Amino acid sequence: MVPGWWTWADHREEVVPVMGADRSMVYLDGRFVPRSEAKLDVEDRGVLFADGVYEVLRAYGGHLYRAEAHLARLRQSLEGLRIAPPADVERLIGITLELLERNGRAEATVYWQVTRGVATRDRRMPAQPVPTVLVLTWPTAPLAVSEAELTCRSAILQPDRRWGRCWIKSLMLLDNVLAAQAAAAAAADEAIYHRDGTVTEGTAANVFIVHGGRLITTPADEAILAGITRARVIDIAAAAGLDLEQRHFNTTELATAEEVMLTGTTTNVAAVTNLDGVAIGSGEPGPVARQLHTALLDDIRQECGLEPGWS
Ligand code: PLP
Repeated sequence: MVPGWWTWADHREEVVPVMGADRSMVYLDGRFVPRSEAKLDVEDRGVLFADGVYEVLRAYGGHLYRAEAHLARLRQSLEGLRIAPPADVERLIGITLELLERNGRAEATVYWQVTRGVATRDRRMPAQPVPTVLVLTWPTAPLAVSEAELTCRSAILQPDRRWGRCWIKSLMLLDNVLAAQAAAAAAADEAIYHRDGTVTEGTAANVFIVHGGRLITTPADEAILAGITRARVIDIAAAAGLDLEQRHFNTTELATAEEVMLTGTTTNVAAVTNLDGVAIGSGEPGPVARQLHTALLDDIRQECGLEPGWS
């Protein structure tokens, strides 16, 4: 090769180090196969139309946190796209635990994807689709390492130009990609969406604020994904006797909130301390974020049977 030239393969190693270095097994089309041998059909409707749904969940100490809730949401998303759940969906938790074992991974981020399957390109749905089921796992830092501090995030506001069925966790994430990239270009960690000034959610997280002493989060309507973490945090807040309201709030309330939080499977609870370059509240994580963060980690530990301080 000419010195100084790079191939796409070299570049890919650079920009996607985890995937490039990953020699693990994945589950595809009913089989456990090495990552390097797993190939999607070029006419899979997931490739051609983003015609499919997905879930991201976490394994802590070999246990899948809130797995049943993720499975229930996967079913709802499939129903939203009118994809009949294939038999593998019934067995998805068992398949995932086996995959984690084969990969020797107790700490992992797990990805489930179900597409409508392979068919000659036509917008209309195929008469007898055979959905494609894919399961991936990525190594992830254990809880005890990642928990040390409540994560602080900076965010920018972005207009929400996604489709009107955001309650479906569909593969079609292009607006999320553009908004996340806009955040990265502004040296921020996340973009928070709004529709005509009404806050919806982040590109990969739900949003909570503390305003006037009340904890507020957007109602789980069609405009947002009903986060599994969001639901858990709502339960935790209720159990802790916090005053919680599910209502729409606008970007002014967001910017003038005492606290802003993001919740999500890969985020848990994170404090947004800076919005569009301006400090939120004191510019430090607030007491409610700290309380919810700690309580969520306790909940994870309890459900996954982890000892306090476990690593
Ligand atoms: N909203 C969006 C758009 C997301 O993509 C995600 C997760 O990826 C969430 C919210 C948080 O959902 P969960 O808590 O189920 O991970």
